[in-house]
Amino acid sequence: MDQWMLDLRNSVTKGETLAQDYDVDVNEINDVRKVYPMRIPQYYYSLIKEKGDPIWEQSVPSIEELQDENAEEDPLHEDEDSPVPRLTHRYPDRVLFLITDRCPMYCRFCTRKRMVGRASDVTEKTIAMGIEYIRNHTEVRDVLLSGGDPLMVSDEKLEHIIASLRAIPHVEIIRIGTKFPCVLPSRITDKLCNMLKKYHPIFLNTHFNHPREITPQAKEACERLANAGIPVGCQTVLMKGINDDPEVIKELMHKLVMMRVRPYYLYQTDLTKGTNHFRARVEVGLQIIEALRGHTTGFAVPQFVIDAPGGGGKIPLLPEYVVRFNSKEVVLRNFEGKEYRYPQVDQKLVKYPRKIKAINF
Ligand SMILES: *Cc1c(COP(=O)(O)O)cnc(C)c1O
Ligand code: SF4
Repeated sequence: MDQWMLDLRNSVTKGETLAQDYDVDVNEINDVRKVYPMRIPQYYYSLIKEKGDPIWEQSVPSIEELQDENAEEDPLHEDEDSPVPRLTHRYPDRVLFLITDRCPMYCRFCTRKRMVGRASDVTEKTIAMGIEYIRNHTEVRDVLLSGGDPLMVSDEKLEHIIASLRAIPHVEIIRIGTKFPCVLPSRITDKLCNMLKKYHPIFLNTHFNHPREITPQAKEACERLANAGIPVGCQTVLMKGINDDPEVIKELMHKLVMMRVRPYYLYQTDLTKGTNHFRARVEVGLQIIEALRGHTTGFAVPQFVIDAPGGGGKIPLLPEYVVRFNSKEVVLRNFEGKEYRYPQVDQKLVKYPRKIKAINF
């Protein structure tokens, strides 16, 4: 058995274990984890400094998860948009393909709380059906492996899935979404990286939410991936009391680029049942982008998005930089709030083969 599997076995999964170190209500924690499972790898658990800190809040069950009665289990309608089980085909050219419903840690804010770590319905059969669907749909050029966490499966099984996808001529890129570099970096071995790099172009998005998660171990894991030629991105979820502060996000983004991880998305929290106590105001997300854009490295600024309730996909939000726009000029505001004018080229001088939509405001 690989070392990471042993590390995973050694996770905190019960209220009783927490009670050895902290003053907690064991019954309450166990009530929650029976509905929404708990697993905190020892590595991540050791990053907790005190009860209620950002590491704690993301990993330790809270009774508020059970008090979120009126929320939807699947607000993004991922299941509805599934042509075959556990594959979501929402965008024209790419699919989301869930190859496991297990995770190294059960994040309390998870958008797939309805399924992760619960009664399993990802099987060899659904995986085979997913691959078959992709093979039959030549428009799919981008496959996003997710879960659960796709790195929960063994290297051998993962290689089998990736090799099957790579054998499909129209699949151009394969992406992996994984929490491991953040919660159990020992998973990112040379063996794994050497396997993945045989199937390039492979992209990987990981998931850090707080600067305290950036440790020497996490850095080593991300650099190992980058050294294998895998572009590593990061998706961050904005959460009340955890990271809804421009200074915290800025520090996180700077630490990410220091380990060659490129910020990708900053997500407004979804409406998923059991997670609504994490929701921050949308204005805060915009304020954060405003505080980053122009004030720091362009590629350290993530795209702030709302994954639209009802299954509309990710919609980007930007603080408004366009003051006025018409056929003659565009008036813009820069990061310091100063206005600049950009005169338009005369319409008579440009001919496009396609129609250009007029914008006026
Ligand atoms: C996020 C997501 C993707 C990938 O979207 P990108 O913007 O290309 O990263 C694809 N399918 C679904 C259902 C998604 O939620
Ligand atoms: S690792 Fe990802 S899928 Fe799993 S619980 Fe955390 S956020 Fe959800």
